[in-house]
Amino acid sequence: MSGGAGILTFAETKDGKLAPITRETLGAARKLADEKSWKVTSVLIGDSISPLADELISLGADKVFICQSSNLKGFLDESYRKIINEIALSENAAIILGGATFVGKSLFPGLAAKLSSGMAADITELVWDGENILATRPAYGGKVLLKVSPVGPGPQMATLRPKAFPEPSPDTGRTGEKVDFQYDESKHGSRVKILESVVEGGQEISLTEADIIVSGGRGLKEADNYKMVRELASVLGAASGASRAIVDAGWVPYSHQVGQTGKTVNPKLYIACGISGAIQHLVGMQSSKTIVAINRDPEAPIFKVATYGIVGDLFEILPKLTERVKELAK
Ligand SMILES: Cc1cc2nc3c(=O)[nH]c(=O)nc-3n(C[C@H](O)[C@H](O)[C@H](O)COP(=O)(O)OP(=O)(O)OC[C@H]3O[C@@H](n4cnc5c(N)ncnc54)[C@H](O)[C@@H]3O)c2cc1C
Repeated sequence: MSGGAGILTFAETKDGKLAPITRETLGAARKLADEKSWKVTSVLIGDSISPLADELISLGADKVFICQSSNLKGFLDESYRKIINEIALSENAAIILGGATFVGKSLFPGLAAKLSSGMAADITELVWDGENILATRPAYGGKVLLKVSPVGPGPQMATLRPKAFPEPSPDTGRTGEKVDFQYDESKHGSRVKILESVVEGGQEISLTEADIIVSGGRGLKEADNYKMVRELASVLGAASGASRAIVDAGWVPYSHQVGQTGKTVNPKLYIACGISGAIQHLVGMQSSKTIVAINRDPEAPIFKVATYGIVGDLFEILPKLTERVKELAK
């Protein structure tokens, strides 16, 4: 990177705002950079996103590349990959960080291949090990924690698990450099065109960004009873999740599924209602800070990972819990 080695972060956006993972990634990058007196550069890509550059600087970026074009309205991984690749090479980035989100999971492996980089995916900790980064990556459903240094010929790369790193507080007094990066369709264009975007099974709070999640499983007995989960989620300001059993049964859309073939979540509080705790469910939620399980079977495996277990009938417990939270909120 001109003026010394540096860390590049990908600034993911959502609905015209910085995605929470962008703040978390910048916080992690700033911490690493400060230990070596390095610079942090962020790459902002999209349509009408330039006002977000100041926010990136306030959160720790020293320099922000802004690549703005109406051709970049939606996420197109081919275009994004080409743009970040070009900036990473011109800036001689030593480290590239982004989020282990749907966008990051699509973008980063291709970028790593293009840059001949080593990559650590879905990491939960990041420190220096001499001149290399050392990342912690949960594996086998969180049963082992791998320590990985993504060393290769290219920059070292990692994607950060959402909500595993703290968000930095903004400092509006910080100053930084803003650089306009010209989008060139002939160089950065994508063979894919977005014809239409559809928001699936919309819920206001996204599962991967939620601080609290209330999830339901087959113990709810029938689709209509999922409203009990939604009600508790609503009074708690939480997102509502589900086991695969009830997604497969068509009770709730796939976007609610937590687990191996659904979403990996990391909230402060996860409330599992009528979920047995199959390993495929646990791998998606067991890193939650506090887990409350409601199940009438005292031997249910979910209790092995629960911080607090309630053995009982969810049809009695859920309405009482919802009422109590409502009372406390008054
Ligand atoms: C390749 C593969 C990938 C998979 N991916 C996922 C995944 O991503 N996510 C996922 O969740 N699953 C996944 N599964 C499925 C997983 O193995 C389980 O089948 C599923 O998680 C079970 O869902 P459940 O806990 O809702 O249902 P069940 O296992 O049927 O459990 C229902 C629970 O409700 C309790 N219960 C019943 N009535 C009451 C009551 N009145 N009050 C309180 N408790 C009650 C029961 O004691 C029981 O423990 C996957 C499976 C495979 C093979």
